[in-house]
Amino acid sequence: MSMNIKPVPTLDDEVNEIRLATAEIVNQDILPVEKKLWGWVSDSADASKEVLEEAKELRRQVQDKVKREKLWAPHLPHEFGGMGLSFLQHAYMNEVLAYSPGAASLFGVVAPNSGNQKILVKYGTPEQHEKWLKPLTEAKMQSAFSMTEPDNAGSDPRSLMTRAVLDGDEWVINGHKWFTSNGHAADFYIVMCRTADPDAPGDANDKMTQIIVPRKTPGVNIVRGVPVWGKASSHCEIKYENVRVPKENQLGRTGTGHQAAQDRLGAGRVYHCMNSVGSMWRAFDLMIERLMSRVVHGGEKLEEKQFMQGFIADSYMDIQSARLMTINCAEKMESGADPRIDISSIKVFVPQAYHRVVDRAIQVWGAAGVSGDLPLAGMYQGARTLRIADGPDEVHKILIAKMVLRRYHGGESWDFGN
Ligand SMILES: Cc1cc2nc3c(=O)[nH]c(=O)nc-3n(C[C@H](O)[C@H](O)[C@H](O)COP(=O)(O)OP(=O)(O)OC[C@H]3O[C@@H](n4cnc5c(N)ncnc54)[C@H](O)[C@@H]3O)c2cc1C
Repeated sequence: MSMNIKPVPTLDDEVNEIRLATAEIVNQDILPVEKKLWGWVSDSADASKEVLEEAKELRRQVQDKVKREKLWAPHLPHEFGGMGLSFLQHAYMNEVLAYSPGAASLFGVVAPNSGNQKILVKYGTPEQHEKWLKPLTEAKMQSAFSMTEPDNAGSDPRSLMTRAVLDGDEWVINGHKWFTSNGHAADFYIVMCRTADPDAPGDANDKMTQIIVPRKTPGVNIVRGVPVWGKASSHCEIKYENVRVPKENQLGRTGTGHQAAQDRLGAGRVYHCMNSVGSMWRAFDLMIERLMSRVVHGGEKLEEKQFMQGFIADSYMDIQSARLMTINCAEKMESGADPRIDISSIKVFVPQAYHRVVDRAIQVWGAAGVSGDLPLAGMYQGARTLRIADGPDEVHKILIAKMVLRRYHGGESWDFGN
């Protein structure tokens, strides 16, 4: 089944054209070869060299077409080789390209590189743009973001202990990180470091700095790729042991690391949610396809069973609420209004809705639902993981409650219209 994208009456022509052109590539160039693109084999054997080579060539062909159609890197400004889209335009494009899992990388917008590119655009010097950003956007380099630590709560970044100390013109970094995604392939890491004593006077948020560390620097020791969902992964555990990098590798002013992380995560959460909406859309289509074709007890199709009709209604409502909440949040961000409560709300609601929608689709497909023959099992794991990554649900619920209570304590009630 293809993704059904028609012009949205409330959107301008430019976004509608981008969505239609994106859907055309997804429908014509990606979905028909979806399994081959990722070197997938149907009998649990490892893919042969030929299969992997064919996959690489297919991906290159799709990427070339994406570039010819000027749909490459929707998150970056024109001067850095991107489409120069506004925040909202990018969000609207994301739900389309996320219909096929993994397609984002074929459009040049794949985490963690995309988040790092945004941070480099905003905080990087012209020299850093030339040295790190340019090769990253041209896909000549890979990168990773190294913040979370095994010994401290990732949900509270102020607890991080990795320390960077200035010695002459060099930062000397010591610390222990894990879940540094893309850690094996990355040419450089952006490492979140404590650059001031936690007990020194001043705001705790002003004591962190992000520093670029090339992977091949002496003292960067990859301990392992941490297995995730029972499979090998490139989410790396890394020890930084007396790692020395030039002072000019820091991003922005000393002490702006926390703010840079907030910038990255805030926008990133909206993009992740629009990706989740695209994936839910696909899971919904797959579920309906099966409901309309599978015959069960008594010779009736699944679509005639009321339990199953309940699945359709519940999933429809989940997708619509998730989508409209995310678009509303993106609109607020674009208008300059304070979006913090909306960002936390979608960060909690959307992955949970995504989880429910995929769960129902898996149930409808029975054993096939958990097999590797369909993208549903991968989506299910992705949806579950999203409830932890980028800040766990509970932390965001606490933030929502605090913001609401602060308003009421200030003598004002909540205005849901604004
Ligand atoms: C697949 C994957 C990829 C990742 N990629 C990256 C990456 O590229 N770079 C990177 O730096 N990190 C990455 N992470 C790490 C991720 O950002 C952290 O896992 C996340 O921030 C949570 O931190 P933690 O695991 O230390 O959990 P903790 O902070 O220990 O929290 C554990 C649990 O405690 C509960 N909890 C926490 N705080 C509170 C509270 N205040 N009140 C009530 N309950 C609470 C929540 O249920 C939470 O899930 C990745 C994680 C995953 C799973």
